[in-house]
Amino acid sequence: MRRPEGKFRVKRHPLCPECKYDLIATVEAGRRICPECGYEFEMYELRGEKRPGDWTFQIGLRNTVVSLILRSLVILPLWVVIIWVMMTYMSNFGRFNAIILPLLGIAMGFGFSTRLADHAGFAGNVLLFMPLFLAIGVIIGGVTIVHQIHPLTPYQKLFFSLWGGIPALLWILKVMVLDD
Ligand SMILES: [Zn+2]
Repeated sequence: MRRPEGKFRVKRHPLCPECKYDLIATVEAGRRICPECGYEFEMYELRGEKRPGDWTFQIGLRNTVVSLILRSLVILPLWVVIIWVMMTYMSNFGRFNAIILPLLGIAMGFGFSTRLADHAGFAGNVLLFMPLFLAIGVIIGGVTIVHQIHPLTPYQKLFFSLWGGIPALLWILKVMVLDD
């Protein structure tokens, strides 16, 4: 889970750390003073020029949000349909439901966390908290939506939220913390 970079780095012109002046000619001539502002630089201080399409934290954050929203658009309807099917066609809270729900939770956690860092282009705590909060939102939101169609008792709401939600959150924690 590393930041994609370095691909074009070699060909980038070095810029003055003070005034951003292009120092390619200066460096090639073996000088260490910026002709534009007179700053005396060391080679390690130089940063390559920015190019359109360069990774920035803003782009990474935007990619994360877009990726998570797209995931929610798939996961939320599935979650709603499965709870609804359980409530409508299966004996409530039988042994079968108690097995299906945690598996569904794990699948949801997988859906929210897998390859998220690749899509974002970075790894960090943001990538732990965003899928966690979104998963909680989807789990509670799904139960609330089903409640509008097929009223649930408070116990049923709690059952679905916790029995599906905890495996989902544990899976996200596992992927984001341990798989790095
Ligand atoms: Zn300069």
